[in-house]
Amino acid sequence: MNLILLGPPGAGKGTQAKRLEKRLGVKQLSTGDMLRRTISSASDIAHEIKAVIDAGNLVSDNIIMQMISERIDDPDCSKGFILDGFPRNIAQANALEYMLSQKSLRIDHVIEFCVDKEQMVKRILKRATEENRSDDNDDTIRKRMSIYHEQTSSIVPYYQGRFLLNVIDAMKPMDDVTSQIEKILAV
Ligand code: AMP
Repeated sequence: MNLILLGPPGAGKGTQAKRLEKRLGVKQLSTGDMLRRTISSASDIAHEIKAVIDAGNLVSDNIIMQMISERIDDPDCSKGFILDGFPRNIAQANALEYMLSQKSLRIDHVIEFCVDKEQMVKRILKRATEENRSDDNDDTIRKRMSIYHEQTSSIVPYYQGRFLLNVIDAMKPMDDVTSQIEKILAV
């Protein structure tokens, strides 16, 4: 089963993806985590990526697409994958659709996490202190939120048009959110 979890930073996508990983044996692919790993490696593009992330901007579509395409081919994705934090704009959604068709794969469900914007900022600031993330400060968070509303939310109608979209109330307690997802997936 191949899934996309869609929602603003701090919506709880990562937590739910980890639960689904255990439950379904599919692999969570978080582009944010993959980029943070690249930053901590000594690769040539590490500095470039860090600057983009710290400013709260989006990393180039080419870098993201290559990263995801290679990762999906790994054996641990053979049972399926959960895309967490990707796609983030229409160009990525289109590129993903093409890439998957080339691999004879498809997305089964897209789950949109609906949240309250101000609550999200509070939640991310709390995570910033817990995880020591350099991109979780007030300015960057607001920038990432506005990018979400300007660019990422435009992929909601894209998936609605493909009859893949399911909306959940992500402000509910964690277990309740999990139940909403399990109901959609019928697992
Ligand atoms: P996240 O952990 O998903 O909140 O991502 C942290 C940061 O990584 C984002 O603010 C972006 O700078 C970058 N990033 C993550 N995923 C993507 C993506 N799909 N496209 C572009 N940039 C991304």
